[in-house]
Amino acid sequence: MRRVPVQLTAPLQQPPAAGNPGFLSAKMLASGSSGNCLLVRSATTTLLIDLGLPARTVAAFLESREIPPAAVEAILLSHEHTDHLVGLGTFARKYQVPVVAEAQTLAAARSAVGRLPARTLARGSTITLGDCEVSAFPVPHDAAAPAGFLIRSGGWTIAYCVDLGSADETLVEPLRQADLVVLEANHDYDALRAGPYTPSLKARILSPFGHLSNLEAGRLIAASASSRPRTVWLAHLSAVNNSPRLALRVVGGLLKREGVSGVRLETAARDRPSLHWSSHAVGWQLPLVV
Ligand SMILES: [Zn+2]
Ligand SMILES: [Zn+2]
Repeated sequence: MRRVPVQLTAPLQQPPAAGNPGFLSAKMLASGSSGNCLLVRSATTTLLIDLGLPARTVAAFLESREIPPAAVEAILLSHEHTDHLVGLGTFARKYQVPVVAEAQTLAAARSAVGRLPARTLARGSTITLGDCEVSAFPVPHDAAAPAGFLIRSGGWTIAYCVDLGSADETLVEPLRQADLVVLEANHDYDALRAGPYTPSLKARILSPFGHLSNLEAGRLIAASASSRPRTVWLAHLSAVNNSPRLALRVVGGLLKREGVSGVRLETAARDRPSLHWSSHAVGWQLPLVV
């Protein structure tokens, strides 16, 4: 993989001074059709977004980081598809961690995984969880009430936006605010069209309520670019119709053509813990595109 540094659009930022309470970090545990889970930590609060891995796998990962699973403040659930909730019921009940989601999503999740401790978060609303402000926004996907999330703490913002079939202007503003954007780049259009999936599955993925292509993801990143450096994680990559190299080439190429710089572009692994982002490291990493 060839990575070419691009010109910064803003001066390198200094990390917050020691003792500055402003802190936010993210760790991707898995991202794809076989499981999704993102760990977000602020100065005082631990959140999970989606729990599409076995509960014991997530608990073991947290314990390896010396995070007691019961210390998780909440699990944000984007939608009720299996790859986002397979371990949700067991984890939430065992550790008494509330699931935060739209009412319709909670109802669908309960019918899939049973009783859940829960708090409702309507799309368009914001709640406070520990020292984090969490806002939900609608995304187009074939689920009951699919949502993306903005998590703000200590002056930093993470946007989580996976499983969406199309991108319109309503998504630009939420993503523009983020220092870290986690965005679906599910498939390469040509690879999907030429690939082995059945016509009906191809039609579902390509529909406005299916999954986002590399090119669509690139256009949304370009449209939501701001003047400050940011990190973008391309997520939920298909194992059959995409590859990290292809996603980086298509999205990176589009950003270059559009004159967008100051973006550090990375791909999340499908089935193992991979990317880590910390507000403490912002400014020390040169933005890269491919
Ligand atoms: Zn999914
Ligand atoms: Zn889905």
